[in-house]
Amino acid sequence: MKRQQREQESQSGHLTDTTSTDEDALPQQEAKVQKLENDVPKSHESLTDMPTRPALGLDNKDRKKETIAVHWFRHGLRLHDNPSLIDAINLASELYPIFIFDGEVAGTKVCGFNRWRFLYESLEDIDRKLKEVGGRLYTFNGDPCTVFNQLIEEWGVNLITFEQDPEPIWQDRDNAVKRLCEERGIRCIESVSHTLWDPNEVTSRNGGTPPVTYAMFQEVVSTIGLPHRPSGEPDFSSVKLSICDNFDQFALPHFQDIAPKMEHPDQERQLWIGGETRALELFEVRVRREAAAFKAGYCLPNQYMPDLLGPPMSLSPYLRFGCLSVRKFYWRIHDTYTELNNTISPSHLTAQLIWREYFYTMSVGNKNFDRMNGNNICLKIDWSEDQEKLQKWTEGETGYPWIDACMKQLKVEGWIHQVARHAVACFLTRGDLWISWEDGLKVFYQYLLDADWSICAGNWMWISSSAFEKVLQCPNCFCPVRYGRRMDPNGEFVRRFLPVLVNMPLRYLFEPWKAPLAVQEKAGCIIGKDYPMPIVEHRAAASSNREKMNRTVQSLEEKFSHCTPSNEVEVREFSWLPETIRGVEKCTADDLCEILGI
Ligand code: FAD
Ligand code: MG
Repeated sequence: MKRQQREQESQSGHLTDTTSTDEDALPQQEAKVQKLENDVPKSHESLTDMPTRPALGLDNKDRKKETIAVHWFRHGLRLHDNPSLIDAINLASELYPIFIFDGEVAGTKVCGFNRWRFLYESLEDIDRKLKEVGGRLYTFNGDPCTVFNQLIEEWGVNLITFEQDPEPIWQDRDNAVKRLCEERGIRCIESVSHTLWDPNEVTSRNGGTPPVTYAMFQEVVSTIGLPHRPSGEPDFSSVKLSICDNFDQFALPHFQDIAPKMEHPDQERQLWIGGETRALELFEVRVRREAAAFKAGYCLPNQYMPDLLGPPMSLSPYLRFGCLSVRKFYWRIHDTYTELNNTISPSHLTAQLIWREYFYTMSVGNKNFDRMNGNNICLKIDWSEDQEKLQKWTEGETGYPWIDACMKQLKVEGWIHQVARHAVACFLTRGDLWISWEDGLKVFYQYLLDADWSICAGNWMWISSSAFEKVLQCPNCFCPVRYGRRMDPNGEFVRRFLPVLVNMPLRYLFEPWKAPLAVQEKAGCIIGKDYPMPIVEHRAAASSNREKMNRTVQSLEEKFSHCTPSNEVEVREFSWLPETIRGVEKCTADDLCEILGI
């Protein structure tokens, strides 16, 4: 009866459709994405969609007639390539897919409006997909162990499955659930599919500690072998997806009831839409772009020609929430390359995924990976405290339009390009303000759609020269004026996010304080009144910070092995310094720096 009702609902289009949007209300970028998506072949059969990880390799004798399973979604918010979900389907006669709001799950402890919305849409998408096969997503509030105890008692649950959350911050939660299962004699299956390799396996192959350099990491994983290929969409036909009579009390709560307030009115103008459906569509577009780039003789178009204003093409928020399987990403790129039989190595692209793996693995067993103190891979640097400057940086009021535009985009849209992250992180730390990377990290955690606890911290440590860099021998820090000019040559990006500067001539746009008063008046923007004066003088700050770094180096007695991996190539790769910008000019680190002559 219920199923019939649901089918009717589905046919009459009553279901929430997260991907349908009012085109008129969409900003231009969004319309571009929609157009790109229309070009995507919807029925594409992925080469990689063949199941090669037979979920646990269980045979029939393992099947229990009365297995009542719960699949616990946390990250891994997808149905495709979800081995623990497949295990639940294969083993259970009855299955309840659930999500528990415990105040921390999927990074909700520090989480701004955009990421909440993205998470919510990802959950809605799962619920909608489950509806299509006769099920629903159940949601709960509170401590997972309390919820599971209740489910064991009231619903007779005897199997719990979930995807491994590899970062140490989730360990206590997951260990508690595993202990509970053991105590209650409940089967518990945890599968590795958020990462290409199991960070614990990499660590144990390396003698019990994470490989400290990127090169070592690559060596260790090469001994494990290639990542598993992804599995496809699950087949729910063998399992009953029950919907209890009082389901309403478990349905996804209304967004307004759980989400924080918008931090900026422009967040209404939504650019990123969460969920597996969207992830898979964007992925197809991305693969086509990469294939076109391969054919044209290069790869990573968004790195080669950074498009700061382009439509959302990044998959990092989808990888972060697990709406897209990282194994699908990895293998599809490799297969596309093989199909094209091109001489360009796809490893440039998949190298980015390896950085992701590396940071996840580096944080294994290190609960202090997100701070300087108590974190043995992080160099102790004597950062300054300056709440006022930190606040100005956070709000995009530093007086450097390139930096401010990046920070405004972060707050409004939730995703900023790698070069923008690089610019603002360098400016806050070793470049200009000499403020601790931990302060910047907190801001990124709150606003970034793709904020991962360990990846974000790892990147901040790198950029602030706190780890992963040649010991504090960072290249000259990026100049907030030159870097901006190179990345935003027409000033379109800055004008978009700082409308107060919309009429400032390009010549002064990146350093408007240099504009003569008459020019400022004509542009309708008086510096110091309508737009701030710079909060630091870059040249002087960069020079003094460099001296502080030199003093720090001198005070270090030991060599730090984790600080010596980077060579020129690795730094370029990490910094995403394109060889050319828009196919024209050569772009070197020096071009983007204030040459201090030291
Ligand atoms: P692609 O070129 O498509 O790369 C593919 C995937 O590889 C990305 O989606 C991402 O999952 C991964 N990746 C790419 N670059 C890196 C990198 N440097 N480190 C680790 N993984 C990488 N990325 C996050 O996913 N989460 C974060 O919290 C995060 N915080 C960052 C903080 C700072 C200060 C900086 C400088 C970078 C940070 N990055 C983070 C890395 C990077 O900026 C984004 O992953 C990237 O911009 C995503 O764009 P893309 O999807 O087009 O990348
Ligand atoms: Mg991506």
